[in-house]
Amino acid sequence: MAKVRIEEGHCPKCGSQDLEYGDSNLEYGDSEPKDQSIHYPYTCCNCDFDGEEVYSMEFAKHVSSDGLEVFPA
Ligand SMILES: [Zn+2]
Repeated sequence: MAKVRIEEGHCPKCGSQDLEYGDSNLEYGDSEPKDQSIHYPYTCCNCDFDGEEVYSMEFAKHVSSDGLEVFPA
């Protein structure tokens, strides 16, 4: 039996890339910013597996409203 790769864009059950994505879903943890993650629910069109891809979010930087990076004074 072929080993199925677990990675984004691939069904973890059958390895198909024929995934149909629903609406992304931003979830905030209780308090710590490091608990934030985005869930992308999907259904595999090949084997009907329902799952979610979960992406963790981490703070990167501040930018001003015109998109310029802001450095500490
Ligand atoms: Zn599948």
